[in-house]
Amino acid sequence: MAQANESTERNIVIIGGSYGGVSTAHYLLKHVISSLASKYQFKVVLISAASEVMCRPACPRALILDELLPQDKLFVNIASVFEQYPRGSFQLLRGTAVDFDHSERTVKVDTANGHTKTVAFYAAVIATGARTHSPLLGYTKDENHLRETWAAFRTALPKATSIVVAGGGPTAIETAGELGEYLNGRADMFSSKLENPKVQVTVISGAAKILPQLRESIAQTAESYLARIGVTVLKGCPVASTSPASAGTLDVASPCMVTLANGHNLTADLYIPAYGTIPNSSFVSTTLLESDGRIKTNPKTLRIDNAGPRIYAIGDVASYARPAVHHILEAVPVLCANIKRDLLLDNGGQKAAAPADREFKVDTRETQMVPIGKSKGVGAAMGYRLPSFLVWLIKGRDYWLWTTGNL
Ligand SMILES: Cc1cc2nc3c(=O)[nH]c(=O)nc-3n(C[C@H](O)[C@H](O)[C@H](O)COP(=O)(O)OP(=O)(O)OC[C@H]3O[C@@H](n4cnc5c(N)ncnc54)[C@H](O)[C@@H]3O)c2cc1C
Repeated sequence: MAQANESTERNIVIIGGSYGGVSTAHYLLKHVISSLASKYQFKVVLISAASEVMCRPACPRALILDELLPQDKLFVNIASVFEQYPRGSFQLLRGTAVDFDHSERTVKVDTANGHTKTVAFYAAVIATGARTHSPLLGYTKDENHLRETWAAFRTALPKATSIVVAGGGPTAIETAGELGEYLNGRADMFSSKLENPKVQVTVISGAAKILPQLRESIAQTAESYLARIGVTVLKGCPVASTSPASAGTLDVASPCMVTLANGHNLTADLYIPAYGTIPNSSFVSTTLLESDGRIKTNPKTLRIDNAGPRIYAIGDVASYARPAVHHILEAVPVLCANIKRDLLLDNGGQKAAAPADREFKVDTRETQMVPIGKSKGVGAAMGYRLPSFLVWLIKGRDYWLWTTGNL
């Protein structure tokens, strides 16, 4: 049954407890709710499948060994970062949203303690992100499942002599780079390639070039760094299938045969599908989705225009920008300013007194940093190529672990 909205209580439901959801919750609690003069009491209800927020960009290194990164910074308890707010203004609901009824304005949740609960909302923000094909690279369920998956992979890793990483984007390159350096070490400074690596790590890129967001010369530098840690790159031949089909997805420790689209076969002791993501939007009506499964989101206002008033999306589940943490952090103030405007207008505010819509503008300049092992990296920021040292300094040292606790 719908959780009764007390006559004076209005829920602002946020679904998804990661970069988009947690940042939006903080912003609303700090800057929006406290500034609304209304007879209603607004409450932020954060629905999260996980109880910990994690630094997802760090997964390529974190999956290898706990000792490589401080665990208390990698995983941060969500409830603890909201203790600072007044009682009654925030609720964390542990569970998975299984149905979002935008007409009735309710969301049905399978709670972590085994119940089903329906929460009525006055405003809603969908921030459920996107999952990877490989469960090693972020939450496919919650933190416990991620740790179990890492444990299974780590048990198989010492026996592996061949690892295939499918994909040519930053996740695949970073994962191959971390594994290559950890398992093989680095060639001496006079060698362009590590001869006879202990473990054959192969990246298989479907596209003719790796790192599509970066220019050709940067991608070539990345390939040269990879060669020095025993990683081979095959380009222009996507993976067609694996046998068994569950390798790398349902079973992260399974040896398999990898068949490429050109008919060639490779054997792999471990296989990591590190290409693309799948938006976590199955609980939303298909009428609100793009053909790729992301939620159709107004690219300027971040409203879901087809869903009705005061319903928004942010982060990787939304269609307004490519998936990247910096785009989310730029989008949060825009989203929250527009939520504030909508709340003011619906709560007796005069149109003239409410601020105008704030508009999101995506920064399309070449910006991406890709560490390759613990001491090298390639990248660009705002259109300028970065030297390896700077990529290490900004990202490769710790994969931005400090961001998680500060969300
Ligand atoms: C391996 C890897 C490395 C990356 N590196 C970088 C990088 O270096 N720089 C960068 O800018 N970006 C990077 N990205 C992208 C970045 O991680 C994402 O843009 C970011 O995590 C998206 O945040 P989000 O809040 O939209 O969702 P996510 O981080 O995807 O989180 C979604 C949350 O919602 C929860 N959830 C899902 N479904 C439900 C449901 N039905 N009910 C309740 N909760 C649900 C999930 O459990 C999760 O906690 C990387 C991505 C990956 C996979």
